[in-house]
Amino acid sequence: MKLALYDTLSREKRDFEPQDPKRVTLYVCGPTVYDCAHIGNARPAVVFDVLNRVLRKLYGAEHVVYARNVTDVDDKINAKAAAEGVPIGEITARYEKIYLEDMGRLNVIAPTLAPHATDHIGAIVEQIGALVARGHAYAAEGHVLFDVGSYGDYGALSGRSVEDMIAGARVEVAPYKKHPADFVLWKPSKPGEPVWESPWGAGRPGWHIECSAMIEANLGMPIDIHGGGHDLIFPHHENEIAQGRCAHGAQTYARYWVHNGFLTMDAEKMSKSLGNVLLVHDLVKSVPGEVVRWALLAAHYRAPLDWTDDLLTQSRKNLDRLYGALRRAQGVEVEPVEPPAAFMEALLDDMNTPRAVAELFALGKALETAESGGARRKAKAELLAAAELLGVLTGDPDAWFEAGVDDDFRAKVDALIQARGEARATKNWPEADRIRGELTALNVEVMDGPTGATWRMKEPG
Ligand code: AMP
Ligand code: ZN
Repeated sequence: MKLALYDTLSREKRDFEPQDPKRVTLYVCGPTVYDCAHIGNARPAVVFDVLNRVLRKLYGAEHVVYARNVTDVDDKINAKAAAEGVPIGEITARYEKIYLEDMGRLNVIAPTLAPHATDHIGAIVEQIGALVARGHAYAAEGHVLFDVGSYGDYGALSGRSVEDMIAGARVEVAPYKKHPADFVLWKPSKPGEPVWESPWGAGRPGWHIECSAMIEANLGMPIDIHGGGHDLIFPHHENEIAQGRCAHGAQTYARYWVHNGFLTMDAEKMSKSLGNVLLVHDLVKSVPGEVVRWALLAAHYRAPLDWTDDLLTQSRKNLDRLYGALRRAQGVEVEPVEPPAAFMEALLDDMNTPRAVAELFALGKALETAESGGARRKAKAELLAAAELLGVLTGDPDAWFEAGVDDDFRAKVDALIQARGEARATKNWPEADRIRGELTALNVEVMDGPTGATWRMKEPG
């Protein structure tokens, strides 16, 4: 079975062949750490986490190098630091920590590498130097600009001509540019902003050069797979390719380009500038991370995903069903197995998570209807193996149904159970029944055993 990925550059689904199966490289543009991530930002983190899991399954975890950068030098970071009157590093450290916690709640495995732009100024300056030396970049008024006219393939990824780019006003016109589509590699810092020395004057790097320099420094070119949200195709990834290729006259910068579709809320793009954001940090306070993750994987990664309350409710129900099956199979001992072929085929077919999820349900059903011990063991083992690739069903089934149960609730249930025990001890059956009714109303199931009563939450109907 082979992994096939839709490659944005060649515009077709292609079988994935790593350059070196002992060192498969994946790079995804990570967060700019100036604020909490919204649920749209979490989509690429979760989608590429599934890809990372698939690659680790196919090639072995130790043979996959997944780098997701942290953009820690940026105008928005500077603005936030100035507004709070704190050093930039305080802002970036705070929001990176929150980002990692939030993604952890969504079961995103930490990438192998998390390169920071500010730790790679040397590599960035070196790559800019190579571009200048090869005639692909020029210095002007404290800036260094990439000379788009020097690179014939500019626009190949996004399918835009340079004229379209200018007409679409996606480029900034500035007097120091030879051509309006030329983009910044290095620029002077304003007072109070972070600043580094360079052969072209003190300043700071542009955004695009950060990624291509960190790829060169940490992974080496060409990489196997480059990922990100589809909004990054132009200009960010177009510019990354231009820089990466032209710095060394290379044919290929990334061998496969994978882009996730956008998350919308009420059919509008979720973005901080539109103000319709739902922060992961807030959402996971009331919704289990796995429910959020499930919802993010409900659509194919390239399709748009509309975020609604209904999507969350449905995701919760789906997980309840599977956790319910696991809870009823709690005593079934299993050994690790390979995920079944139908499930793998779905996931390997350009990460078709909707189909993979359907296979997960089929496994849940097989577990519920298995008639022999052997069939139950097989179904449970296969369900867990498949779920692991999607990063769900990682918790204890009893704990799952207790999500949202707080200490007050626990204390109340314990007190009711004790009162019921006392009523039973004095043979006050009507009172014992009344208390049991109260527990049932709380959705609590009481299990009387030789060492006293225990309880657990019932599965929602
Ligand atoms: P940003 O912090 O805006 O640079 O975005 C970080 C990542 O989140 C990028 O890969 C974006 O493509 C992605 N992203 C931002 N907004 C959305 C959205 N509404 N839906 C899907 N991906 C998004
Ligand atoms: Zn990038």
